[in-house]
Amino acid sequence: MVKNINAIRGMNDGLPKDTALWQRLESLLTKVLGGYGYSEIRLPIVEHTHLFNRAIGEVTDVVEKEMYTFDDRNGDSLTLRPEGTAGCVRAGIEHGLFYKQTQRLWYIGPMFRYERPQKGRYRQFHQLGVEVFGLHGPDIDAELILLTARWWKTLCIDEHVKLEINTIGSLEARANYLTVLVRFLEQHVNVLDEKCRRRMYRNPLRVLDSKNPDVQALLKYAPRLSGYLDEASRAHFTALCEFLEQAGIPYKINERLARGLDYYNYTVFEWVTTSLGAQGTICAGGRYDSLVEQLGGRSVPAVGFAMGLERLVLVVQALNPALHTLPVIDVYLIALGAGAQSVALQLAERLRDIFPQLKLVTNAGGGSFKKQITRADKWGARVALLLGENEVATEQVVVKDLRSGAQETLAQSKTAGRLAQIFS
Ligand code: ATP
Ligand code: MG
Repeated sequence: MVKNINAIRGMNDGLPKDTALWQRLESLLTKVLGGYGYSEIRLPIVEHTHLFNRAIGEVTDVVEKEMYTFDDRNGDSLTLRPEGTAGCVRAGIEHGLFYKQTQRLWYIGPMFRYERPQKGRYRQFHQLGVEVFGLHGPDIDAELILLTARWWKTLCIDEHVKLEINTIGSLEARANYLTVLVRFLEQHVNVLDEKCRRRMYRNPLRVLDSKNPDVQALLKYAPRLSGYLDEASRAHFTALCEFLEQAGIPYKINERLARGLDYYNYTVFEWVTTSLGAQGTICAGGRYDSLVEQLGGRSVPAVGFAMGLERLVLVVQALNPALHTLPVIDVYLIALGAGAQSVALQLAERLRDIFPQLKLVTNAGGGSFKKQITRADKWGARVALLLGENEVATEQVVVKDLRSGAQETLAQSKTAGRLAQIFS
């Protein structure tokens, strides 16, 4: 017996029962992006490992333990991208996209992180990411949030996702705050779990993200970043809040929101849903004004976010099943008896020439009339066309309206005209 080879744990197949929903979502989401003037950028899935080390930061969950890293045959260390921002910035610098111009970009595709697979958390997952370069004001932060809010409205899930925002200040203000935070944590080191102790010096902001209830209880008494903010980032944040209020977008300020990656400054935000349990963040991002320079470009302000498509699909399946209907075809073409299959293939091609949008399935693999008509029903076809030996001999076709049951026999040359009437 040969042993089956299965997919890698946490890397899922997209099965036909689900791909229709994925396609519909992708089409709705990218249409909205087009409407805001955003362009797609297509990026490699593999990059040099040091791109991610430098962009994301050595002391982050992603770089410390989640990356799929390997040596290629030259001995170069390569990594399957765990996120899209680093590659997007790399490409922008490499192709001069940031030189004296602004860019509004999006990308979509698989990302890879070695995590414990569970609902909403996989090792290969998909993100739709959006990044804007060259604009430093709060107006563009607000635009990104308005764009995401429009997505939720389009998908009828706006009641079930909530916006949380925060400002984490300039890099300098944050450094000042971190000194004070570390001093506080040192005084309460007995309450900290091992993970927090490890992070305390290497990436203290991440301690604020801890899910440990004892640590969370302690943090109620910790000094707050808001007390150490610089004037400019405070003004930026106030302006963003005003834009959101005036646009009627409800939000909650979450002072604990720090985000996992090193490169953020000023605005950070997340869209969270309660309908997914622990994996509730479907979309997260913020401003990263120093990253382009950090990766070797000139100083270019930037802001962006990434959405986890698997999580969005789970929310949509739970809340808006109407979007999840099977694709329905227009016409099923039944062929019975000698010579009919060839005529059917030709008739189908003529109809596709005339109606490029027509969804037509030609029966394949033979079968009785009963079997073929059952297949037509399974496809949800509106109309069945039938070619039997008689029809082939007389160059006719039977047109059967599968909703009303009415049927008629016509010359094959009249098929298109009749279909046009039925579908008008
Ligand atoms: P989390 O706190 O859930 O681990 P994160 O902060 O690591 O999320 P980001 O790096 O901000 O996530 O990625 C943006 C979005 O991508 C997340 O909000 C989520 O929707 C999605 N995402 C991240 N990691 C995974 C994963 N392993 N599986 C599925 N989706 C993911
Ligand atoms: Mg994570």
